Amino acid sequence: MSFNKLGLSAPILKAIEDQGYTEPSAIQAQAIPAILEGQDVMAAAQTGTGKTAGFTLPLLELLSKGEHAQGNQVRALVLTPTRELAAQVAESVKDYGRHLALKSTVVFGGVKINPQMMALRRGADILIATPGRMMDLYQQNAVKFDKLEILVLDEADRMLDMGFIHDIKKILAILPKKRQNLLFSATFSPEIRQLAKGLVNNPIEISVTPRNATAVSVEQWLHPVDKKRKTELLIQLIADGRWDQALVFSRTKHGANKITKQLEDAGIRASAIHGNKSQGARTRALSDFKEGRIRILVATDIAARGLDIEQLPHVVNFDLPDVAEDYVHRIGRTGRAGATGKAISLVAADELDQLRAIERLTQKLIERRYEDDFMPTHMLPDTTLDTRPIKPNKPKKPKAPRDQQGGARQGNGAKQGGNPAKQGNAPKSGNRRPAPKAEVTPGQGLRSKPLAPARRNRKPSSDN
Ligand code: AMP
Repeated sequence: MSFNKLGLSAPILKAIEDQGYTEPSAIQAQAIPAILEGQDVMAAAQTGTGKTAGFTLPLLELLSKGEHAQGNQVRALVLTPTRELAAQVAESVKDYGRHLALKSTVVFGGVKINPQMMALRRGADILIATPGRMMDLYQQNAVKFDKLEILVLDEADRMLDMGFIHDIKKILAILPKKRQNLLFSATFSPEIRQLAKGLVNNPIEISVTPRNATAVSVEQWLHPVDKKRKTELLIQLIADGRWDQALVFSRTKHGANKITKQLEDAGIRASAIHGNKSQGARTRALSDFKEGRIRILVATDIAARGLDIEQLPHVVNFDLPDVAEDYVHRIGRTGRAGATGKAISLVAADELDQLRAIERLTQKLIERRYEDDFMPTHMLPDTTLDTRPIKPNKPKKPKAPRDQQGGARQGNGAKQGGNPAKQGNAPKSGNRRPAPKAEVTPGQGLRSKPLAPARRNRKPSSDN
């Protein structure tokens, strides 16, 4: 299949050629003709599928035909959950629209609002925005939607997870009723279907798996280790395994900073990426990592979500996530077609509840590997597999975290059930559980309830 057959015009085909793409990905082949026909589309596709071009290319094509946006007007609005994703989409719009005379603007929180208001004065054929900043700009009369033709919600599932539902509803209420709607989400969960009901009109549904990985092979294991010795163990793993690069996940922003500093002190080039970092610092860390100038990128879940990073050989869970589904997203970052990725978790005794929830969600016990020099003094109790089905989440009613784009997650603190673990004796060094390789489709759409904090003094999950 060639791009020529999809109904795109010469300037766009030229831009595609400039990018070096030879044929459309599955999502592009399905979404582009449908969008060009003016249909509403609901697509289950995540990062790596080519979804951004899947909506950007036809968007540009449609907009290239009508009248250009005048002062403060917007013709197409793309909403994304995080600043990074907004910046990436804006970059794609620039790349694919380079031979067209369309104006695009990107706005997100965490930076000054005035330059964004100035930029919007001349109008935007395409506006890419995070929901909170979008509402702020609207309330300050910086945007007009009377000429809006198309609305895109990108990573809609993540927007709901992050508590943007209220902002999204407010935005929907101010848009003209007659418009084309495109909804992209990693999965079609019950919450997404609920959102879609009030949004898309007789949509075409598309569902694809990532471009180069229908089922990649990921080897998962965990090292039981005392909390205080996690960094030391990480440094040893990096050195002994001669890892070129790894993505390390920290549950909190503070944790990410601390790990980064300790790695740097040990002579390992590392950077942290999370919601408290300035936009410049986040962009720099990402490009340094992509270009190999740093070896270890330490990220919180939300900051890492949607980042266009090539699949990596190693992903480390420095802490287990509070939401079991994030584990699946994290390990989806490793494993390439034809090569086995490694997802390694460092697990302290007080993370037992999170471990149980992950094993229940993935329906696999994670193999345990003990490092001789790091035998924990606080033993991680054995777990047994809880095979009871997990009920889907009820739609959440979180507060709108206006100033936390790219930052906070709202957890509902629902209790996660689980059989009491067998409290086993300390396993001997080298003891391994027989749960070797797992076939994983990244972000396979498994949903679980956020886990109740196992301890009273545990930091709230909003510290992302
Ligand atoms: P996305 O899923 O939109 O985050 O895109 C993932 C990556 O795939 C980006 O680096 C794109 O530049 C790249 N990409 C998108 N479409 C194609 C294509 N048709 N052929 C090759 N690469 C592509």
